[in-house]
Amino acid sequence: MDTASARAAKLRELLARYDYEYYVLDAPSVPDAEYDRLFRELQELERAHPSLVVASSPTQRVGGAVSGAFAAVRHASPMLSLNNAFADEEVLAFDHRVRERLAEEGLPVEELRYSAELKYDGVAVSLRYEHGVLVQAATRGDGATGEDVTANIRTVRAIPLRLAGIAPALLEVRGEVLMYRREFERLNERQREAGEREFVNPRNAAAGSLRQLDPAITASRPLRFFAYGLGESAGAALPATHSALLDWLARIGLPVGPERTVAEGPQELLAFHRRMQSLRPTLAYDIDGVVYKVECRDWYDAIGFVARAPRFALAHKFPAEEALTELLDIEVQVGRTGKLTPVARLRPVFVGGVTVTNATLHNEDEIARKDLLIGDTVVVRRAGDVIPEVVRALPERRGEPPPRRAFEMPRTCPVCGSSAVREEGEADWRCVGGLYCAAQRKQALLHFAQRRAMDIEGLGEKLVDQLVDTGLVRTPADLYRLDIATLAGLERMGEKSAANLVEAIRRSRRTSFARFLFGLGIRHVGEEVARVLAEHYRDTAALMREDWPALAAAKANIQKDNARRRARGEAPEPVPLEGIGPEIVASLQRFLAEPHNREVIAALQASGIEFVRDAAPGEALAGRSFVVTGTLPTLSREQAHELIRRHGGTVASSVSRKTDFVVAGEAAGSKLGRARELGIAVIDEAALLTMTGEGRSRRSPDEPDHHSSGSDPA
Ligand code: NAD
Repeated sequence: MDTASARAAKLRELLARYDYEYYVLDAPSVPDAEYDRLFRELQELERAHPSLVVASSPTQRVGGAVSGAFAAVRHASPMLSLNNAFADEEVLAFDHRVRERLAEEGLPVEELRYSAELKYDGVAVSLRYEHGVLVQAATRGDGATGEDVTANIRTVRAIPLRLAGIAPALLEVRGEVLMYRREFERLNERQREAGEREFVNPRNAAAGSLRQLDPAITASRPLRFFAYGLGESAGAALPATHSALLDWLARIGLPVGPERTVAEGPQELLAFHRRMQSLRPTLAYDIDGVVYKVECRDWYDAIGFVARAPRFALAHKFPAEEALTELLDIEVQVGRTGKLTPVARLRPVFVGGVTVTNATLHNEDEIARKDLLIGDTVVVRRAGDVIPEVVRALPERRGEPPPRRAFEMPRTCPVCGSSAVREEGEADWRCVGGLYCAAQRKQALLHFAQRRAMDIEGLGEKLVDQLVDTGLVRTPADLYRLDIATLAGLERMGEKSAANLVEAIRRSRRTSFARFLFGLGIRHVGEEVARVLAEHYRDTAALMREDWPALAAAKANIQKDNARRRARGEAPEPVPLEGIGPEIVASLQRFLAEPHNREVIAALQASGIEFVRDAAPGEALAGRSFVVTGTLPTLSREQAHELIRRHGGTVASSVSRKTDFVVAGEAAGSKLGRARELGIAVIDEAALLTMTGEGRSRRSPDEPDHHSSGSDPA
């Protein structure tokens, strides 16, 4: 009993603190789910030990407080809270209790209907209309007394200052002031720019905006309103059911939520709950559940009230989208392109309807910005189908065990041990061992084999998956050890295709240094950079011997001289390796300095790779102008453009009389029509490839085209 009483006191103290942060400061420090969990624990304790119940317990009263900054408004009829349910059984129990009450009171149970609507996640207000004119608006406060926010409410455009068509002596409309999610994001953006406090969620933004001492600030905040009920009234003929009341409120000019239904019994209520839960992510505003109310308003008094909520209504909540858990560790994953991503390992937590154990933390700056320490209590959010996110830590809990420690990004790749670097101006760390790292194997092989690099025909994604997954190939050098027998043993590989592939691999040995260099997948070394480098260096050994600082100094000298020459009207001298800037050089050096990569390069060279000069860029399309439209069977729009340019053609975005060819794919639209109008030649992808002479190396349709990974993989 002593421990129960101590625990109850502790819970009351915590809940009082959270109430204050939530209702007075509009800045909660814990998610609602945490508050609700403690609230329920207190309710259970009090149920087990009724002597623990005190009038001041949060379970016995409406949570809010009156801040003193506003004049107090005494509510003529109290503004209550709602009883909550999470599980379906609790809804059945609610229905059961209602039926019992009706029977006890001798009311016709068989006529029971429910009205169901959304539970808006905003701030409750009461609007007092006298003779049709808005005279006062108040917050819920502690339910009996609220704050006078009339001046602020007058700035909310969704709320009519005068009712439409009727002017009863008195009508108190109750509803929820809220903020649309998009408008909340924009508000927070403005707050951030102005260096002001950001709001935790749209509800707190709405509450904070409503409870401004300066109504001009409220006016600048995009607040909305939905009516859902009535307080006192006089001189109005009110509809008999809740659903009719909402229709009536809409007719007299008050915004009423669009999603509602009338249900015969609990099964229909549950169906509504499910439907609204799936609708939830698509709504413009936050809801935290649905509300069921007995339809017949005349029965309310008979069904009655408990301490803080009516018995004739129930809030059926959705699984919380935010919850507290512990950040157990931060692990680093290596992606296909070598990017190191820190991932939060979490104590499993049920949030957004699923159990979450991991969440990406994106990069080290993100961890610093959120000030996360391993061991922290953190807020995890999962809304709709959006991937879970660690929102923030609760630094005020850092006094409690376990000990905290800061995360540090590893300086070597956790998969292969190669060095990891973070380039200037970038957020991500990357593994440098692209040719060797197991995480990057597949990507590296596809990049190496692609047409614009080593051009190994037939080596597509599915095959690379098999080769890597069976352990036959770890690095590009292993490709040159494959034989027909081994390959023929693979899935969907006949003798003939195995022989073809071995032949394609053999053929690829004769290549240009430019293609080879590009194929290594060095970050920032795309096709063009590789071509420029290959004009100056014979092989990777020559690249490794280069004295880069000396070269940079020489370049700087020539550039200085050139400036003088230009001033004198003389022609400038050519600058060696023009366009190869320090960023590229640094990346090259890092890659070639990594022992793992050097091993693979040595193995590649040992396998008989031989460099010949590349043919000059094609002239096949010189002087011709092309427009590409629709979806081509194998080339992306970008690749088609690149192909045309590589062969000397030009690319335009719209069809004109100057266009020579329109390359049309599936679902080509107006451009195709225009081409026909102007009598311009329309060709397909195959014809384009034939014109460029690149038709031969296209893949068969069942082999996915790995050329789509044609960009620099790093
Ligand atoms: P509640 O929000 O669960 O339900 C009652 C309220 O629902 C009403 O006052 C009304 O404003 C609103 N409502 C929305 N749509 C409605 C509709 N269609 N019909 C009728 N009412 C509708 O209960 P509460 O007492 O206002 O507050 C408790 C909530 O506040 C809990 O969810 C709790 O987690 C949260 N809270 C959180 C913290 C925190 O620190 N995170 C602190 C205090 C309270």
